[in-house]
Amino acid sequence: MKNTRNRSIVLALMTFAFLCGIGFFIYRFVTSANLWVLSPINKHLSEVNATLVGDILDRNGVVLAHSKNNIRTYNNDETIRKAVLHTVGDKEDQIATSVQKLYRDELYGYNFIFGVNTPKIFKQGKNIQITLDSEICKAALNAIGNHKGAICIYNYKTGEIVCMVSTPTFDPYHPEVVTNDKTGQYEGAYINRVISSSFAPGSVFKLLTTAAGLTFFDNMEDKIYSCHQTEVVNGEKITCLSNHGDIKLKNAMMESCNIYFAKLAIDLGKSNMTKIANEMGFNKNFSFDRLTTKKSFYDVSDADDYYLGWSGVGQHKDLLNPMHSTILMGSIANSGIAVLPCIVKHNQVNKKVERFLTKEVADKLKEMMRYNVTANYGDSMFPGLNVCAKTGTAEVGENQKPHGWMVGFSSKEETPLAFSVVVENSGYGSKTAGPIASKVLNLAAKKVLQ
Ligand SMILES: [Zn+2]
Repeated sequence: MKNTRNRSIVLALMTFAFLCGIGFFIYRFVTSANLWVLSPINKHLSEVNATLVGDILDRNGVVLAHSKNNIRTYNNDETIRKAVLHTVGDKEDQIATSVQKLYRDELYGYNFIFGVNTPKIFKQGKNIQITLDSEICKAALNAIGNHKGAICIYNYKTGEIVCMVSTPTFDPYHPEVVTNDKTGQYEGAYINRVISSSFAPGSVFKLLTTAAGLTFFDNMEDKIYSCHQTEVVNGEKITCLSNHGDIKLKNAMMESCNIYFAKLAIDLGKSNMTKIANEMGFNKNFSFDRLTTKKSFYDVSDADDYYLGWSGVGQHKDLLNPMHSTILMGSIANSGIAVLPCIVKHNQVNKKVERFLTKEVADKLKEMMRYNVTANYGDSMFPGLNVCAKTGTAEVGENQKPHGWMVGFSSKEETPLAFSVVVENSGYGSKTAGPIASKVLNLAAKKVLQ
């Protein structure tokens, strides 16, 4: 009798464990089966008839990736193939942030009942249209040439990214150039620098220091600091390119005076600087269309006044992600409201917004950035676009040329485009990133107006 009871208990426990296992399996199957479809180690997919795989099209319907006779083919134009590589993807799925990889389930027509073996009569792989304009991307790649860097343009009203180019890049038909690379020319070629990298921002960060000043100090625009080219703080030197003498905010921004913004950051203090950086999107990721950006970084927790000063001019440990900086430019253009981006064209517009700045602060930054262009960079760079911009030249270590930046936006209603250009180890932002921004934004604006 006792034996039978023991056996019943064991049986009951085993049945319970079995049911738990089945339950867990069903739960995992329902919630995570598509992840297996997405996994590059799933060899089954390579055996599936590739003609069922959907195309990837640009915003104008230009085919960027297509399947024919079981082979994945890409656009006929080599420069377009290279320019959109990081968004479209490569044959070996090395690029983790590509649509081909992230939307593998949709492109293969995955569904819950049939998996990837959906009978042809029901469904084929779905085509995916992205928001990029391949011609603008091509122009961007031609403009940046052999430099490493990132170029991003998005519509700050709709959130659509029209240009996203990362270099170094390669032809998806010749992936061997990366694996055979001996010179370092292709180092980091699998990384989409717009999404997954962050760079020392240099003077671009002065916009944030200014925003903090405008937020926490009365009469910020009349605040005068003296620049004598070097300023000793805690026994160490903060340096400026010129001796600007007594200078006010607007001209300090236009002349990009380091001493002005270093002193301002020190007067604002760590907590005010950190608060504004965080409100403007530093130290957080942005997620959209299955992509997540690398965080921009601002941390002065262990900084003394010397490093706090340098942090206010975009040095110290500051890092800026190019997608974030483009969203940030959009927020200044939009009176403080940041429209989050998208890369896939959706049937329903699901625009997400976040407030980065108050309207007052955003409008003052806009005015100063407009003055940068009219008084310094030259309006002829962007004819008729009323561009507001800031350049940056970020020191990245001894024996290395600095990174050059230009960020900004067209303030015209008809051409709501924000941009970021960063060129690694290239020198002055106005000389390197500036001409690239000019070429690409002018073309993008022309296409918006068409
Ligand atoms: Zn100065």
